[in-house]
Amino acid sequence: MYQTSRLRGDSPVSIIGAGITGAWHALLLAEAGRAVTLHERSDAAMTQSTSHWAGGMLAPWCEEEAAEPVITRLGIRSLALWRQHVPETAFNGSLVVTHPRDRADFERFARLTSGHQRLDAEGVRALEPALEGRFRDGLFYPEEGHVEPRRVLPRLHAAIAKAGGAIKFGSEAEVDDLDGLVIDCRGLAGRDREPSLRGVKGEMIVIETTEVELSRPVRLIHPRWPLYVIPRGDGRFMLGATSIEAEDSGVSVRSALELLGAAYVVHPAFGEARIVEFGAGLRPAFPDNLPKIRIEQERITVNGLYRHGFLLAPALAELTLAYLSRGEIDNEVMQCA
Ligand SMILES: Cc1cc2nc3c(=O)[nH]c(=O)nc-3n(C[C@H](O)[C@H](O)[C@H](O)COP(=O)(O)OP(=O)(O)OC[C@H]3O[C@@H](n4cnc5c(N)ncnc54)[C@H](O)[C@@H]3O)c2cc1C
Repeated sequence: MYQTSRLRGDSPVSIIGAGITGAWHALLLAEAGRAVTLHERSDAAMTQSTSHWAGGMLAPWCEEEAAEPVITRLGIRSLALWRQHVPETAFNGSLVVTHPRDRADFERFARLTSGHQRLDAEGVRALEPALEGRFRDGLFYPEEGHVEPRRVLPRLHAAIAKAGGAIKFGSEAEVDDLDGLVIDCRGLAGRDREPSLRGVKGEMIVIETTEVELSRPVRLIHPRWPLYVIPRGDGRFMLGATSIEAEDSGVSVRSALELLGAAYVVHPAFGEARIVEFGAGLRPAFPDNLPKIRIEQERITVNGLYRHGFLLAPALAELTLAYLSRGEIDNEVMQCA
């Protein structure tokens, strides 16, 4: 479908929210030659964003276990965009391992996901020497990647500026106060215009040790949540993440025990690690847990990225750009008023 409104062409674009959704939109639009201004209410540390708390895993095949096919489709497209626009993105794959008591869940995970290779104990050791003798089986997803959100957001913000876009930190913007085309990427704060959005709490812990080295995210099969250990460099590891229908930002004792316990199962040396940080972020989610691009004349809302903001933001930004440039509509994620 092609549209003829004044959205197309060279009119300036305001984007609200410099989390992962707004950042990718600003980057692709600025690189396409649009005059972009990105408004962010917090400072460059981005601590008010959900993106600040994320694991940053780019794992479209692992996510097949619980997500709709559209997540895999857009996620695989996003991997190519990460490679193209952020060439230093780590693509070392993901490793899934299991405690023997959760063997049935491991087999279920293998059945529901694709793009993996089965590993025996020697295969696990070859990939991650630190895990020698710890796991008899593993699943390796070689095409998956990961980013460190707290490094990649500033990297994206710098790329936006380099492409000619303007970023205004400390700028709390209202959708209706801005002239011209506005792309609303406010995450959970966008609830005033999208009342069905809810926050799904994800708790995380950062620990530090020089006793363990990992090269890629290691997921531990768990009956309720995908628990994982992500290497952050400099001896730091992020442990994540719970998924709780609550909107407070506290970390419960039970969650902390489960996250720290998972790390201990992956490697007992994590038991001696230093705890650096506890935290939680609220994932913005629609009732169906799927992302949406809602187009209402000069107002476009991109929200509901739920557990997949880093995985989906590049592909969603590309779809928004395709709509603005050529009027293309993706029926799975776009809604036109
Ligand atoms: C613990 C945890 C682990 C996760 N792990 C992963 C993972 O491994 N992989 C993955 O893909 N996803 C992961 N996610 C999900 C991911 O973090 C979210 O999907 C994503 O951060 C949502 O990004 P967003 O840009 O839409 O929202 P946000 O990151 O919240 O950004 C919205 C921004 O808008 C700003 N804002 C709001 N109102 C205004 C206003 N009026 N004016 C100006 N600025 C405003 C806010 O300050 C904020 O910076 C995880 C989430 C959590 C909590």
